[in-house]
Amino acid sequence: MTIMQGIIVPGGVLILAVSFIVAWLTGARRFYLLVLSAAYIALAIGFCLMLLRGRFSDDLILPLANGTFILCQVLLGEALLERRGKSFGLAGNAIAFVILLAVYCIPYFLASVEIRTIAINTGLFLYMLIVISRFWIHREDTIHDKMIFCTLVVLGVMHIVRTLGLLYTNQITAPGSIFWQFLQMYSLLLAMVLALEVLAAHFVESLNNLNSLRDRDHLTGVLNRAGFDRAVSSFYHERTDTVLSLTLLDIDNFKTINDSRGHPAGDRVLMTFGQILLNQSRGTDVVGRIGGDEFAIFSVGLDNLGALAMAERISAHFRENAMSALGGDTPFTCSAGVATMRVERGYEALYALTDSALYSAKRLGRNRVVSGNRGPGIERAV
Ligand code: GH3
Ligand code: MG
Repeated sequence: MTIMQGIIVPGGVLILAVSFIVAWLTGARRFYLLVLSAAYIALAIGFCLMLLRGRFSDDLILPLANGTFILCQVLLGEALLERRGKSFGLAGNAIAFVILLAVYCIPYFLASVEIRTIAINTGLFLYMLIVISRFWIHREDTIHDKMIFCTLVVLGVMHIVRTLGLLYTNQITAPGSIFWQFLQMYSLLLAMVLALEVLAAHFVESLNNLNSLRDRDHLTGVLNRAGFDRAVSSFYHERTDTVLSLTLLDIDNFKTINDSRGHPAGDRVLMTFGQILLNQSRGTDVVGRIGGDEFAIFSVGLDNLGALAMAERISAHFRENAMSALGGDTPFTCSAGVATMRVERGYEALYALTDSALYSAKRLGRNRVVSGNRGPGIERAV
C-alpha cells in the first residue's frame, strides 16, 4: 500500500463521513445521511486495517478488513435506497450482510485465497445488481440520480471485473498490480464524487427550503411581495402564447378593524383572508400579499370571466363566512379589481389596468368587483 492510499485515502473518506454527520446536524435530519456516514466510517476503517497488513497476522487483518468493506457496501446501498424511501430496512440489510459475510467466510476455511476472492466479489456484484435495479425502478429524472446510478454500476462492474480477472489471469488482481491499484483508486474517486454529489443535493435542497421561506409571508402563508414579483417575472421570462388575469383584492376599512378590535384581531382577519384566497383560487395560481391588506392573484390561462367569477367567489366567502369565524357584528368586505391581457403586452400594463379597476371599486363604494377590461367605470356589484 502506497503512502498515498495509506494516509490520504482513509483521511479523505473520514472527512466525508464527518461532513455527512454535519449535514445531518445542521438541519437536514434525513436518515440516509447518517447511514451514508456509517458507510464511509466503515470504508475508512477497512483502509486503515489494510495499512496494518504485514505488522499483524494477515489471518486476522484480512477478514476484519473485508468484513468492514462488505459492511460499507451494504450501508452504501441502504443509504441510497433510503434516500428514495425504498430501503430494505434493518432486517433486510442484516440478512444481506450475514449472507455476504458467509460467502466470504465459508471458503476461508475450505479454499484458496483465489476462490475466496471470486466468491465474495461475485456475491457483492449480485448484491449491487439488486441495489442498482431497485434504485433504477424508483429513480427520479434528475442529474443527481443519473450520477448515483452510474456510480453504482461502476462499483458493481468493478467486482465482476475482479472476478473475471482472477479467473483468467492471476496477474490482474494481484494486490500490487497497477490494474488493481487503479481500480481501487477509481472506485474511491467515484465514491467521493458520489458523496460530494449527495452533499451538493442536500445543500441545494436546503437552499430551496430557504428560498421558499424567504418568499413566504409568515402571517398569511401566501407569497410575500418579493416572492410574488419573482414568480410573476419568472413567468414573463419564459413567456408563452397565453392570456393572463390579474386580480387585486383589498380589505375594506381595514384601519377601522384594527382600531376597533385591536392589531392581533386585524392579524387574524388577514390570516382568514389569505386562507380564503388559497382555497378559492386554482392550484396553479400565484397568490401573494403585496401590501398591508392588499393581495394579488396571478392566473395564467384564465380569461376575464373566469377571473371575475373567482374574485366574486372570494368576496362572497369573506363577507358571508369570516364574521362567524372571527366574531363581531359587522360583516367583513373587500374590493377587487380584475384585468386580463395577452402575455405580449407585459406585466406593467396588466398591473396598471387591474390597479385602476381596484381604485374604481373603492371609489364606487367598496364591497364590489370591477373589471378593467370593460372600460373605466364599468363594475359588477356583488
Ligand atoms: P380601504 O377600504 O380604502 O382599503 O381602507 P383601509 O382602512 O383598509 O385602508 P388601507 O388599505 O390603506 O389600510 C391598510 C391598513 O393595514 C394600514 C395598516 O395599519 C394595516 N396593516 C398593515 N399591515 C398590517 C399587519 O400586518 N397587521 C395588521 N393588523 N394591520 C396591518
Ligand atoms: Mg384596505
